[in-house]
Formats: sequence, structure tokens, C-alpha cells
Amino acid sequence: MTMPANVKTSADHPIPESMKAWVLGNPGELALQDKPVPVPDKAEVLVRIDAVAICATDLEIIYHGPPAEIEGGGPHNKGFTPGHEYMGTVVALGPGVDEYSIGERVTVEIHAGCGQCKRCREGMYTSCHNYGKNYGDVDKGHRANGFTTDGGFCEYQVNSVNTLVHVADEMTDEEATLVVTAGTAMYGLTELGGLVAGESVVVTGPGPIGLLGVAVAKALGAQPVILTGTRDNRLEIGKQLGADHVINVRNEDAVEAVRRIMNGRGVDYVVECAGAENAVNEAAQMVNRGGRICLAAFPHGQVPIDVAHLVRNNIYLYGIRGEGKSATHRAEAFMRQKRFDATLIHTHTFPMTELPEALRYAKERVEDAIKVVVKNKHAASTQAVAAE
Ligand SMILES: [Zn+2]
Ligand SMILES: [Zn+2]
Repeated sequence: MTMPANVKTSADHPIPESMKAWVLGNPGELALQDKPVPVPDKAEVLVRIDAVAICATDLEIIYHGPPAEIEGGGPHNKGFTPGHEYMGTVVALGPGVDEYSIGERVTVEIHAGCGQCKRCREGMYTSCHNYGKNYGDVDKGHRANGFTTDGGFCEYQVNSVNTLVHVADEMTDEEATLVVTAGTAMYGLTELGGLVAGESVVVTGPGPIGLLGVAVAKALGAQPVILTGTRDNRLEIGKQLGADHVINVRNEDAVEAVRRIMNGRGVDYVVECAGAENAVNEAAQMVNRGGRICLAAFPHGQVPIDVAHLVRNNIYLYGIRGEGKSATHRAEAFMRQKRFDATLIHTHTFPMTELPEALRYAKERVEDAIKVVVKNKHAASTQAVAAE
């Protein structure tokens, strides 16, 4: 297509006028429609989307709405395209971009803060004060693709250069989609203290973030790393990703088991990825006095918490959102160095045209699905060399 004169393109990567995009209608309803290919603005690139991983949060957004926020409200019936864990190839450079080049493989993080609020200026762009205010008279330039702006269940998307992560040649498209998940785990551990070598960590809930939380904690030198959950097959993957101990909470009380493993004491940190009703209280019983708990799950309703226990024991609670403080870059570095094998959590791949079936696999955990990836046809043809 004809991009504006200040947008750089290349004949090697022709860009069509329009693309196929999945558009959210009523809750749970997606339709494949034609949309114009978006044009990168200043400090943005156009990414040809090659692969997208489905996240539990996508299902939340598609079926319920939050935490997506479009034009000051929910995401339904607004022509919105969800999907946020994608990777692809840079095919056009907006004005002022020299950080990336056309043809470069990149994966993305979600949040591009406005860059002008207090939190963005502090580097906390995932807590941008202008979240969702990217429309009409209050356009703040904030983007969170797949949450507040169009996401990746389509063929092309624009991304701020600040949300791009270079992908090593050896890394497959599928693995590259997992960088952002590992980045969320990395951000949680960064907020807890970062230097967790030799410190004890419990991860509750072996979903994708919990499993990669185990991997990242172990890669950062934590010892021991204990994983709790209800499904033996996922706990087994946790072991392969480095968990020193796994606890099936169907068979034994998680708090008692942690204290048994720790010779009667608690641990230094808990990364809470389960989101269960009593998860915070259990986590508070698992940490030692002065311990820290990272909350990485979205519980469905309000949960009662024993605040007196937290205060009496000087326990810190950290709510974390997204993958802040450039954690995706650190996560990608671990993956590039093969410090852990994130592909253990990738279970299924579908063509982009079969997104509804892919979502069903993720939602109903068909065939023990963990991470389900959808790929565009253009990626399948050009990425054949990267296939294992
Ligand atoms: Zn996600
Ligand atoms: Zn901001």
C-alpha cells in the first residue's frame, strides 16, 4: 500500500491495503473482517504478525471485558481486535525510527505508556495514569495492544519501538510468543527484590505465568523453588522447568507442605499465580515474617484477607501489572541463552483462520492445552526454515 512519505518501507516486504482481522462483537463472539492496514506514527513500526499466543486474559476480555478498556468502557461491539502475545517481522518504520530495521524479527510487550504522566516518567509504564485514554479529545498516545488499542489477532499491527524485543534467529515463532509471559514472571520477581539468588520462592498455580515464574526464579538462582497446583501433568512440567519441589494441593495442605520442606519455617517470597479465593491468606502463611508476596493473578471477585496477620508479620504485598521495567528484554536474554525451555508450555498451534477453535482449546483445556498459538499463513511459508 502507499504509506505516507515519512514512513519507510521496502520492496522486499510489500504491504497490502487491507488485512483480515478478528473483530470482537458481543461477549464471546469474534468475526473475521477486513480492516485497513494501520499506519505507523512517530516512534512506531508496522509489525507483520507471524504468531500469537492465546492468554487466559484474552478469554477474560472476549467473554467478560475487563481489563480491556476501549473508549472509556468495555471492549464489545467497538470494532476491537484482541490478542496481545504476538511476534512478527518489522515491515515499515514510522518517522524517527532507527532502533529497528525492516525484516527484523521482533516480539512485543503490551504496554506503551503515554510517556508524559508521573508513572511513565518513573519508568512504571505498565501503571500509566493514562491507561485507556487514547481516543477523542483525550488522546494521550497510550497504547496497550489487545487491551486498549487493537491487538494481534490479525495480520499487521503498529507498535511503539519501546514495546519491541529483538528475537534471536534460533528462536522459533512459537517460542518468541512466550517472551512476554516470561517477562511478566520476570517483572514480578524484579518487584519482589530482583536478587533472589539463594532465596526461597513458592510459586502458586502452574498456569503459563506460574510455570515460567518457576523457570525465571530458578534462572535467577532462587533455592529452593517450590511449585503448588492441582494437576500432576503441569506440576511435572514445573519440575522440568526447575522446580525443586512440587506440591499437589489435592493430596496435601500447601502451607503444611511448604513448612515441612522448609524445616518448619516459611519462604522468603511467594509468587501468587492461582487467583483462588484463599490464595493471599495461604501465601501469607507460607512466607516468613518480613516476607514478600507478588500478586500476579486476577481473582474473579473480592477476596477476604487477614490484614492483621500481614501487619503483625510485616508482610509485603505487591500487585503487579503486565511486564514492566523492560522485563521482557531480560526474559528474552534468558531464553536466548537457553537457561530454560519455555517451549515446554507450548502445546498446540492453529492457523489464524481457526482462532475460535484455538480459543476453545485454551478455554476448555482440550488435550491438556497450556499455551495455544495461532499463526498467519505468510509466517508459515517464510518461516519453514525455522521449523524443527
Ligand atoms: Zn497475556
Ligand atoms: Zn503514562
